[in-house]
Amino acid sequence: MERLSIRHLEVRYGDLIGVADVSLDVPLGSVVALVGSNGAGKTTTLNAIAGLVSPSGGAIEWQGQAIIRQPAYAIVSKGLALSPEGWQLFVSQTVEQNLRLGTTSLRDRSRAAALFERVYALFPRLKERRNQLAGTLSGGERQMLAVGRALMSEPKLLMLDEPSLGLAPAVVETLYETLHRLHDEGLTLLLAEQSLELAFDIADYAYVLQTGRTVLEGKPSELEQNAQVQEIYLGIKSGDAGVGNGAKA
Ligand code: ATP
Repeated sequence: MERLSIRHLEVRYGDLIGVADVSLDVPLGSVVALVGSNGAGKTTTLNAIAGLVSPSGGAIEWQGQAIIRQPAYAIVSKGLALSPEGWQLFVSQTVEQNLRLGTTSLRDRSRAAALFERVYALFPRLKERRNQLAGTLSGGERQMLAVGRALMSEPKLLMLDEPSLGLAPAVVETLYETLHRLHDEGLTLLLAEQSLELAFDIADYAYVLQTGRTVLEGKPSELEQNAQVQEIYLGIKSGDAGVGNGAKA
């Protein structure tokens, strides 16, 4: 009951299938990673949970209640927030205005002041730049703002779509330290990540997606020993030369 549970999720984009058959569980208090190469279906899965795309089949339950095909605002108000790929910020609005947008689903609007304080304590850079337009921020600051905006809805479960994408290693390290801290404070995380190293370092459990299906699952310590993971994730057969890192071009 105390979990997000997905069974046989299917999402179509017209005639194309974005996700064919994804099943996963995210128990409250855990960190679960979705890994897989470009186009495996990670974004589509997170967007389906968040109510941003409408699934054509399957079930999504949150704490025992069906939430599939509910509108995005209803999903946020149930305690599930998404920090999307590409950040989706309002670039001509300030940092503070973007953060305030995260509070629109709060039942108790008087919580906003405490939430601003919390987000600014987690990301002091956002506090320094609170009156600056989001469009003038660096990539790392934009990622912080996307996470901060999601946190402003006071979620129980935070979904993060490729938070490390395109960021410098030092920025990624700081961001992941913050994610560890949020987890230590009890926040549940569902993380889509192309970097196996980052995903396996933080996650309690991981699912490997391939062409829209969950094909493997397990604890990171088990999966990283699994030759099939390397093959699926990197899209190579063992013995192939020129091993890539699965990163986006
Ligand atoms: P990425 O790292 O590129 O975001 P991903 O694992 O998140 O990869 P998705 O973006 O969910 O994968 O894509 C899954 C499949 O759905 C891919 O084949 C992709 O081309 C397709 N797809 C995604 N969005 C759309 C869309 N808006 N219209 C049509 N097809 C789409």
